Amino acid sequence: MAQSKSPSRYTITAALPYTNGPLHIGHLAGVYVPADIYVRYLRAKGREVVFIGGSDEHGVAISMKAKKDGVTPKEVIDKYHGIIQRSFVEFGISFDNYSRTSAPVHHRTASDFFRKLYDQGDFIEEETQQLYDEKADQFLADRFVVGSCPKCGHPEAYGDQCENCGSSLNATDLIEPRSTISGTVPTLKKTKHWFLPLERYEAFLRTWILEGHRADWKPNVYGQCKSWLDDGLKPRAVTRDLDWGIPVPVEGAEGKVLYVWFDAPIGYISSTVEWAKREGKDWEPYWKDRDTKLVHFIGKDNIVFHCIIFPSMLKAHGDFILPDNVPANEFLNLEGNKLSTSKNWAVWLHEYLLEFPQMQDVLRYTLTANAPETKDNDFTWKDFQARNNNELVAILGNFINRVGVLTEKYYQGRVPEPDGLRPVDLQTLAALRDFPATLADSLERYRFREGSQQLMNLARLGNKYLADEEPWKLIKTEPERVRTVMYVALQIAAALAVLGEPFLPFTSKKLKAILQLPHDRDDWDGVGRERELLPAGHALGKNELLFRKIEDSEIQKQLDKLEATKKTNAQTTRSLPLEKQAISYDDFAKMDMRVGTILEAEKMPKANKLLVLKVDTGLDVRTIVSGIAESFSPEDILGKKVTVLVNLAPRNLRGVESQGMILMTQDGEGKLVFLNPDNDQVENGETIN
Ligand SMILES: [Zn+2]
Repeated sequence: MAQSKSPSRYTITAALPYTNGPLHIGHLAGVYVPADIYVRYLRAKGREVVFIGGSDEHGVAISMKAKKDGVTPKEVIDKYHGIIQRSFVEFGISFDNYSRTSAPVHHRTASDFFRKLYDQGDFIEEETQQLYDEKADQFLADRFVVGSCPKCGHPEAYGDQCENCGSSLNATDLIEPRSTISGTVPTLKKTKHWFLPLERYEAFLRTWILEGHRADWKPNVYGQCKSWLDDGLKPRAVTRDLDWGIPVPVEGAEGKVLYVWFDAPIGYISSTVEWAKREGKDWEPYWKDRDTKLVHFIGKDNIVFHCIIFPSMLKAHGDFILPDNVPANEFLNLEGNKLSTSKNWAVWLHEYLLEFPQMQDVLRYTLTANAPETKDNDFTWKDFQARNNNELVAILGNFINRVGVLTEKYYQGRVPEPDGLRPVDLQTLAALRDFPATLADSLERYRFREGSQQLMNLARLGNKYLADEEPWKLIKTEPERVRTVMYVALQIAAALAVLGEPFLPFTSKKLKAILQLPHDRDDWDGVGRERELLPAGHALGKNELLFRKIEDSEIQKQLDKLEATKKTNAQTTRSLPLEKQAISYDDFAKMDMRVGTILEAEKMPKANKLLVLKVDTGLDVRTIVSGIAESFSPEDILGKKVTVLVNLAPRNLRGVESQGMILMTQDGEGKLVFLNPDNDQVENGETIN
C-alpha cells in the first residue's frame, strides 16, 4: 500500500551498475540523475534518508570478459569500479554509500540470505539438463546461448530472453541453439541447482502490486508487472555453474555460485550495512521498519527483478519491508539510435567530464528536461546546446547575472531595504512562495521532468518581473522604487538557489556563494514561509556567471565523434549479401574475362559516377563506361591493369556505347578497388578462368 503519512525515514537505492564498462548518459537519465534529484530534495526537506549504491561485480559477463582480455575477473571489476565510482563523485551523484558486491560484507550478507531461505525450505532443489559447451568445457549461462525464439522465430534470441518479442525464455527452449563462446552446438549435461518457486508468491504479488499499487506506480512499471503475472510465474534458478561469484553456501554445491540476479539486489542491503557501521548507526530500521519508505530507482530492463523476483525473496525471508515504489524509466536513445556499449554508441560520462569541465549541471539539466519518464526519448547534441544556451544561459543565468550586477552597481552588493510593496511585488512574492509545494508535488510523484520545467518557470518569473519593472530605467527617477524591485528580485534568486539544488547542485552551490545565503534559510520549506530569504542589509559575495554559452563548434566535434563511430561500426557489422543460387560450370564458362589496361579515362559530362574509359583488352581497344568516378579521378587510373568482362552485351549509357565491364570490389569504407592480376608480367588479353 502507498503510505499516506510521512515516513520516518527513506531508503533510496539506485541500480547497481555492472562493472564491465563505464557509465553513459542512458544510465544517468534512466536511474542516477532522477534518484539523486529525489534524494537531494528529501534532504532539503529535512527528511532522514540514506542513498545506497554500489557496483555489481559478479556474473558470467565479467568472467567472460576477463577470459577474453586475458586478465582475472578481479582486474576487470577493479578497473571499472574505479572509473564508475570516480565519475559518480565528479558528477555529483550524492550516494551516502557506494559499495561493491565483491566486498566481504556483501558475500556474508548474500550468503546468509540464501542460507536462511534454504533452511526454511523456500527453494526447490533440482537436477536438470543444462546446455554445455564441450569445446570450452563449461556450462553455458543463458546469455551465452543464442538460437531461434520458440515464440516469434527471431533467429538471434538469447537463452534468457528474446529481444524481439520480449518473451522470457529458457536456454533449452531455443531452436537450433549455439554457444556464443565457441560457436559450437551445445550438448546437454546434468547439473544440480536451486530454484525459487516464484509461483508460490503469485497471489501475494497480485495483491501487493495489482491491487495495492494500481494508482501510484508508473503505468509502464505496473503494466510490465501485470503482464508477467498474467503469463504465470515459474521457478527461477538462483544458482549457476560458474567460477566467479558468491559460492553457494550449502553442501554438495561445489563449483556453483549464486546467480548474479539473486545476489545483486541484496547488495543494497549490504551497502546499507557497510554505511551504518561506518556512521555508527543501526542499519536494520532502514530495511525492516514499516515506517521506512523504500524506493528503487532502476531502468525498465530491470523491472522484473525489482518488482517480482527481489520482492519474492524479501517476502520469503520474512524480515524485510517491500519497496513503496519502483519508478523505472524507459530508455534514452542517442541521436535516433539505441545506446549500445558494445557498439560504442554512447556519450560516456568520464569523457563528458573531461570534455565539458565544470558543466555537470548542463548534462543533468538536459537529461532531466528530456527524461524518458513515460516513453523512450532521444538525446541529441543540438538539444543539449539549445537547453544550455536558451534556458540555462538565457533564462536562469541571465536573471541571476542581472540581479548580481545591479545589486553591486546600485548598492555595493548589499540587499536594499524595500520601500513599500506594491500589488505586483506582493503577487510576485506570493507566486514565489507557491513554488516549493508545486515542485514538491512533482518530485513526490517522481515527475522530475515536470519539476525541472517548474524550476525554469521560477527563473522566468524573475526575468519577467525585472523586464516589467525596469529598475535600470527607474534608477535615475525613482531610486526608492528600485530598492523594492531589487529586494524582491533577490528573494527570487535565493529561492532558485534552494529549490534548484536537487536539479543543479553545482550551480546552486555557486549561487549560494554569490548570495552568501544564510544557512538558516537554506531549506526547502523555508522558501514557502512568510519570511525573507535575504534580509535587507545582507552583504552578497562576489558575482560570477553561472553558465557559459556552448558554441556550434563544440557540438560539431561531438557529432563528428559519433559519425566516426558509425563508420567504424559500418565496417565491423556490415552485413554481406546472401550467397547466390548455384550455377553450373557451363554458366561460368560463358563469361569471357580478360586482363586489360586502361589507356584513357575522362569524366562523363553531367554524370557524377561515370568515367568513360578506353581499355586495351589484347583483342582490341574499346570503350567501357564504368561507375567508378566517386572513387577515382581519371589521372589516377591511367595505365592501370584491370579485369574486363569482354563479352557482356554492349549497353548504351548516356549516349555512349559501353562494350564490357571492369570488375571491382570494395574496401571497408565502401571505396572501390580494382580486381587485377597479382603480377605485372601478365599480358593484355590473357583469359581468366
Ligand atoms: Zn521472440
